Amino acid sequence: MSSSTKYVFVTGGVASSLGKGIIAASLAKLLQARGYSTTIQKLDPYINIDPGTLNPYEHGECFVTDDGAETDLDLGHYERYLNVPTSQANNVTTGKIYQHVINQEREGAYLGKTVQVIPHITDEIKRRIKLLGNTGEYDIVITEIGGTVGDIESLPYIEAVRQLKWEPDFDCIVLHLTFVPFLAASGELKTKPTQHSVKQLLESGVQPDILALRTEHKLTEGVKDKVALFCNISPKAVIEAMDADTIYDVPLLMLEEELDKVVLDKLNLPYGEEPQLIAWKEFLTKLKNPKQTIKIGLIGKYTELQDAYKSIAESFIHAGAHLDTKVIVDWIHSEDINEKNIKKRLQGLDGILVAPGFGERGIEGKISAINYARENKIPFFGICLGMQCAVIEFGRNVLGLTDAHSTEMYLETPHPVIYLMESQKNVSNKGGTMRLGAYPCVVKKDSNAYLAYNTETISERHRHRYEFNNKYLNDFEKNGMIATGTNPTNNLVEIMELKNHPWFVAVQFHPEYKSTVTNPHPLFLAFIKAAGAYHKN
Ligand code: GLN
Repeated sequence: MSSSTKYVFVTGGVASSLGKGIIAASLAKLLQARGYSTTIQKLDPYINIDPGTLNPYEHGECFVTDDGAETDLDLGHYERYLNVPTSQANNVTTGKIYQHVINQEREGAYLGKTVQVIPHITDEIKRRIKLLGNTGEYDIVITEIGGTVGDIESLPYIEAVRQLKWEPDFDCIVLHLTFVPFLAASGELKTKPTQHSVKQLLESGVQPDILALRTEHKLTEGVKDKVALFCNISPKAVIEAMDADTIYDVPLLMLEEELDKVVLDKLNLPYGEEPQLIAWKEFLTKLKNPKQTIKIGLIGKYTELQDAYKSIAESFIHAGAHLDTKVIVDWIHSEDINEKNIKKRLQGLDGILVAPGFGERGIEGKISAINYARENKIPFFGICLGMQCAVIEFGRNVLGLTDAHSTEMYLETPHPVIYLMESQKNVSNKGGTMRLGAYPCVVKKDSNAYLAYNTETISERHRHRYEFNNKYLNDFEKNGMIATGTNPTNNLVEIMELKNHPWFVAVQFHPEYKSTVTNPHPLFLAFIKAAGAYHKN
């Protein structure tokens, strides 16, 4: 690694879902604002190679990077906060570690040796940790270790951190995030779980340098001092992580707590400039003082778990704030809508978004919702499967192609308007085999997409196997559904729009992966504007 790259490891204790990703991203934001080039890496202890094959109910959305990695949704937070793209190297899983070591073993790399967790697995973990430092691009790498200290599966990661702490020339600190519960009956904040989780880390030979205490109530100095005393931490390095109204408040809360300064002190780095975060603060002011409210129906099949559509929900927050608009998302399960109840369920919406997805379940509800949006001229935004459903709906109901479908849902359809990409035909493995990552797209002038992007060549991220069947393109265009975006090298249709509709834009790619706080996505901005105009009518 570049000798100057320093590392901050973020671990979690007491409970899961405490928001390690948000704390890591907030710290990174502050360090970035102080002039340090910073990136964040996530180590996931599960044995899947990546979350690409996981049901969204398990781990929420699968985020996709420019270079086509299917990753944990925390990488989405990292990008949204830092406005810097992540890559394959930013997400490591136990599956990837073991796969690499086992492949090496088969190739004979360890001939004669017994392959063991220590040193072979831990060496591979350390190698992956150092990859980002080795690029020489970063002053600081923040490495978040998924799971909770004490889990069997995260032990090799903690062991790797222990070893790294003792490596000459490897400069790192450990930030441990825990939870301080409030006992309403006695009116007290309790620190014992935190003490225990630090003990657990100590058993693995790792003394944390900084503790962040997640809490619903303000910590008294007494509580901080007590934790400091029992956990061998300086009181200044005990940081309060209060519940916030929005995740975007957390960088400012951490600035108040001086987490960034404590980290820089421990890494022996100068403070640099005081973070101004002007654009960030402006975003927060706008977010908290909207001038209008609109309601968007998000039609999907994982609506009970909103993490499944994390990036879409965040994109609405970014673009909404930019336009002084509060976007209320009405989460609508596609299996709950049918031709009979559709009007009742969808009336009152200012815009309809049909979400990405896989498989047959709920597909007819999505198609009915699109039909409703098309006929009633309600602003419509289709993403990936949402675009494919818009094509199916138009094929069936405007072109009269009976039983038009995607071959993903109905292999024998007489009208495969959406079908398997040529490159996918011989693919049998499920993991990592889709069309993944960033591809260029040329946008036709005189389209709503062009009005939004204001440029002809764009790059967007993909995650799908099926595509529009160009055999039908003429027929679609003659009847008013136009391909306004295509891939310049292979002519794949990437954007479809309706001519006689105020805003009906359906995209094969995932714009939501590229929306950030300071760069709201142009299509989300345009969709919200169209929904705002519809609301006023
Ligand atoms: N299931 C569709 C495909 O594979 C759409 C995927 C998606 O929405 N991400 O093409």
